[in-house]
Amino acid sequence: MVVVMNPGAPQAQLDAVVARIESAGAQAFVSRGLARTIIGVIGEPSLRTELNLSGMPGVSTVLQVSAPYKLVSSQAQAERSTVWVGPEGRAVPIGPGTFTLVAGPCAVESALQTLGAARLAAGAGATLLRGGAYKPRTSPLSFQGMGEDALKILADVREATGLYVVSEVIDPADVDLVASYADMILIGATNMQNFALLDSVGRRGKPVMLKRGMQATVDEWLLAAEYVAQRGNCQIVLCERGIRTFETATKATLDLSAIPLVQRLSHLPVVVDPTHCAGRRDLIVPLARAAIAAGADGLLVDVHPDPENALVDGPQALAGAELRELASAVRQLPPLMGRLPAQPCGQMASQTLS
Ligand code: PEP
Ligand code: MN
Repeated sequence: MVVVMNPGAPQAQLDAVVARIESAGAQAFVSRGLARTIIGVIGEPSLRTELNLSGMPGVSTVLQVSAPYKLVSSQAQAERSTVWVGPEGRAVPIGPGTFTLVAGPCAVESALQTLGAARLAAGAGATLLRGGAYKPRTSPLSFQGMGEDALKILADVREATGLYVVSEVIDPADVDLVASYADMILIGATNMQNFALLDSVGRRGKPVMLKRGMQATVDEWLLAAEYVAQRGNCQIVLCERGIRTFETATKATLDLSAIPLVQRLSHLPVVVDPTHCAGRRDLIVPLARAAIAAGADGLLVDVHPDPENALVDGPQALAGAELRELASAVRQLPPLMGRLPAQPCGQMASQTLS
């Protein structure tokens, strides 16, 4: 952190700033220029807010030099992390060198629908099954999910297909319940800054996928991840799912630059959800290809055996020709990026898509 003093700030003001920095156990390095004096501060990133230096007399600006987050930063760990999902010894990796497809229905609607979607997902190369039991819907009149019944269905489908389960939690009170059925907890875009939820998921210690909020900057997203990491859970996968811009032709604008950027700023894996940004089936495969080429560690995609009759997000669920195209992109492109497909595990009852 660098503190820039006002031109001509008196010595007493400079001394007071230095005293406050040193009283917090940090080091202050004073550098006098012709017009201004600056103070270099060495200490924890949290000092920036704790010391409240910008409010002190004589202080012009306080500049942050290091990243505002710590545990998730690439400064904390140079090599990129791999997050393992599933039971020890048989878990699926998400991280560098591999490519992981997470696919499944937006919402669990029935056992048959979920099994059908899981088979389609496995056939497309997925090793993880997504499926919503608790749906954060814009309208209270829309389908809200089947709750614990859905979690039971997901657990049965895991038995039948070998696909490990990723499911969203929207209420801190449900974290233990969801974690008792799912192999990975999803925090959706609408809850990225639900701090009570981040706290609860951080303490639970299950792998977590943290979606970027629709209005969140990259720093805000990484700070949300820092909440989870700070509570002792570093098994975090970030998910870029598009941000709200002036463009209304798609549901959200996929921020492709966030993929390589976040991989430089943080050691955490980054996957991309092309489904919820496109909002329309015909754009999903092109966006998926772009995400793979930009270096994503995996994809999260909605599939449905009968999109026409889906209770949630039918128009953006893949099936048929588009799913076959996705399967071929997921088979062919990651090797060009030096990635092996994350190995399917268990006894997969899959439909072949080629
Ligand atoms: C979802 O993945 O089911 C979902 C609701 O997406 P998002 O949180 O990105 O809007
Ligand atoms: Mn959806």
